[in-house]
Amino acid sequence: MHVLWFDPTEILIGGNWQKTDQVIDVEDPSTGQSFAQIARGRTQDIDAAVNAARSALDGDWGRMTALERGRILTRIGHLVESRADDLTALEARDVGKPLTQARNDAIALARYMEFYGGAADKVMGDTIPYLDGYTVYTLREPHGVTGHIVPWNYPMQIIGRSVGAALAMGNACVLKPAEEACLTALAFARLAQEAGLPAGALNVVTGLGEEAGAALSAHAGVDHISFTGSVPVGALVQAAAAQNVVPVTLELGGKSPQLVFDDADLDAALPFLVGACIQNAGQTCSASSRVLVQRGVYDQVVARMGEAYGALRVGPADADLNIGPLISARQKEIVEGFLTQGADLKLAGRGQITDTPDGGHYVAPTLFADVPPDHPLARDEVFGPVQVIIPFDTEEDAIRIANGTDYGLVASVWTADGARQMRLAKRLRAGQVFINNYGAGGGVELPFGGVGKSGHGREKGFEALYGFSSLKTIAAKHG
Ligand code: NAD
Repeated sequence: MHVLWFDPTEILIGGNWQKTDQVIDVEDPSTGQSFAQIARGRTQDIDAAVNAARSALDGDWGRMTALERGRILTRIGHLVESRADDLTALEARDVGKPLTQARNDAIALARYMEFYGGAADKVMGDTIPYLDGYTVYTLREPHGVTGHIVPWNYPMQIIGRSVGAALAMGNACVLKPAEEACLTALAFARLAQEAGLPAGALNVVTGLGEEAGAALSAHAGVDHISFTGSVPVGALVQAAAAQNVVPVTLELGGKSPQLVFDDADLDAALPFLVGACIQNAGQTCSASSRVLVQRGVYDQVVARMGEAYGALRVGPADADLNIGPLISARQKEIVEGFLTQGADLKLAGRGQITDTPDGGHYVAPTLFADVPPDHPLARDEVFGPVQVIIPFDTEEDAIRIANGTDYGLVASVWTADGARQMRLAKRLRAGQVFINNYGAGGGVELPFGGVGKSGHGREKGFEALYGFSSLKTIAAKHG
């Protein structure tokens, strides 16, 4: 399968594509075989990228009106949409995503550009009543140079929400994609150039996290960092940024619960109960890896979810089954470690691995029932297709169990009782609560982010535009 239409060993700095002295192999997770190489950018490349971003702010990009920025973003969205087939093939090969899921990401990237293109000229300030003889108003201004450190699981969606919002506000971006999945980031940057994004407004440096990523988070010329990834690396990034007193948005992991009450519409719930965990082979920050079920429907939910698991099929990305491979041998090892910890748990369902090439990183989706809330599988983020079902008796029990992990990203409530819906929406500790649905990562328009170890700050929706800007208050005394 030929999917590359550009040279991925080049990084983008100040509008110029350039090589580095070393490269990193790119692996196809479906086969474990290397099929391309990317540049190994390092401190000096990050330096150059930050300088180029600063020059863009001082030049054409910095002088553009919000309307012009918005039009460019909209054009990028159209180009992304027109190249959705190419981006889909690229992501499927690079990340191992089944084609349908990779296509969803490409379409979401286009939609982010469309959304932020339309929003760019709609960010307004306030006028504030103050002392006699004053006029006071506020302005939203870009931070300046923004750093974007992105993980491998949803490169297109995360670039869309973070770089899209940052550009809409007039920041100049330095993007460091994950070393496991850089290809669509590079393709996106080429499409952005084609759409007329001025040189230096978006710079892309591929490379290793501990080199290029660490250099970006510690760089004194960066004014804001948006990090999406694991808790330990998020903490490192925040500590590095703190040395420069730079604001950080952290989008980290989760152990997001769905709460199913006796009065829930189970037919409506079932596809979400399973689908919200197994999409992208469970490698989703907002994967719903815990399902809490009230006793009255418990046996029925366990049986029906178990049956659904039995029908799941795992295969290479181009077979476009329910589940593809995990991103790497290392990720497979981590997930298998969790499955070993679950060896004594009650197995409620397991999917099947179909004909798969040797060397791919496949794990059968696995469902456990009767899992104690304090079991590691009920508390820790697995980041693989592993889900647990936990029984509960009362609403109070359900809230206590749901809020009983270190995370707080997404939660959902399945119940017909309107008052209970409202109570739980308030009491669940999460950045997003869904009622009678579950939107794992979905919804360009919906502000997204966590509490606790799931991170802080909000991306997506209009809210992200506030995160990618700072507020200036102007108080004019005129008598
Ligand atoms: P990771 O933390 O290992 O890597 C994320 C990014 O950080 C990569 O670009 C990597 O190169 C970079 N990095 C690694 N070490 C670094 C360092 N020392 N300094 C600076 N940057 C460094 O995470 P991952 O394994 O790629 O992604 C999985 C994790 O991401 C999971 O925990 C998942 O929940 C989380 N995630 C969260 C969201 C969200 O929106 N909340 C979305 C997707 C993934």
